[in-house]
Amino acid sequence: MAQDFIFEKLRHDDATRARAGRITTSHGSFDTPAFMPVGTQGSVKALTQEMLERAGASIILGNTYHLYLRPGHVTINQLGGLHRFISWERPILTDSGGFQVFSLTSLRKMTEEGVEFQSHIDGASHFISPEKSMEIQAALGSDIVMAFDECTPFPATRDEALASLELTQRWARRSKQRLSELHNEPASAGPRITIVNPTQALFGINQGSTFLDLRERSLEGLIEIGFDGYAIGGLSVGEEKGAMFEVVSHIAPRMPEDRPRYLMGVGTPEDIVEAVALGVDMFDCVMPTRNARNGQLFTSRGKLNIKNSRYKDDSQPLDDACPCEVCRRYSRAYIRHLYMSGEILGSVLTSLHNISFYLDTMRVIRQSIELGTFSKFRDSFLSGLARGQD
Ligand SMILES: [Zn+2]
Repeated sequence: MAQDFIFEKLRHDDATRARAGRITTSHGSFDTPAFMPVGTQGSVKALTQEMLERAGASIILGNTYHLYLRPGHVTINQLGGLHRFISWERPILTDSGGFQVFSLTSLRKMTEEGVEFQSHIDGASHFISPEKSMEIQAALGSDIVMAFDECTPFPATRDEALASLELTQRWARRSKQRLSELHNEPASAGPRITIVNPTQALFGINQGSTFLDLRERSLEGLIEIGFDGYAIGGLSVGEEKGAMFEVVSHIAPRMPEDRPRYLMGVGTPEDIVEAVALGVDMFDCVMPTRNARNGQLFTSRGKLNIKNSRYKDDSQPLDDACPCEVCRRYSRAYIRHLYMSGEILGSVLTSLHNISFYLDTMRVIRQSIELGTFSKFRDSFLSGLARGQD
């Protein structure tokens, strides 16, 4: 277990399972529940690191698969690790690469050992195993490392889900073994790699598709191995929203109280508020940035589509309740004009607003848990979203 990684539970909501806490890493601490903007290629699309800091991002996510292919983990390591490479001093979580290997690549061959796949960039063959994923993440030097898992495809039969979670279980054990070896015997990383962050924490990933007993079985196996935090994976992959919340409400309360709980790849602002109420502490999702580039804004009154001609002469901000720097300065009409003209600034402003809206929502969630008013906040937030735009 990583010694510099501390999770403190500061406050528990009385009416729900929501909790407020703080996670400390060797790159500083961040408050939970937390949203992690996704920095796929070492960049949260359209935003500078300064913008992220000003918007209040206290931890970001990097994608192991993308960084491994380009510019390569050895290059990043030789430049001092991911924090120094991208000039970001706050915490970083890296995913295991598994999700992208299974969703982006073709002609893969999966064995007990690992996965062989062809790069989506140039078709070159690569092989990733739990050990290799740990070597890449150790070279990147992120603060939170994710165990290498198979994201169970959806839909899956019970037998398929069982086989998949058992493989993930064996891979989780190998991940832990290899990461601790890399931290304790840095020379085992090979001559070209320096272990830049020996205090990395490791999270295990719960799988089991929508089968609740399999989810439990997966969790028990992970707890037996022992991780610094526990993630719920394999959701938001095409299942009905009801099925997703059935899994989260079943499994989140069974996860260790004294470790952070991370719901991977979820979701909309309302999904996040609901999952917080079920006891989840950490989130990531590409939705705020991806939707921003498609002209879809998240606001306190639901989604706003800037392409809509009704905003052509609209001098109001995107969201008059949003304190972000975009809403303080620019109008819907101007942002719509930028978007319609294909100006780069359009993506910058929409992305900055959406990320700010998510981070601000998390701040209000944390405040309301601390003040004991989370349920009240949740009701008014959800009814605000349901009012819709105009
Ligand atoms: Zn805003």
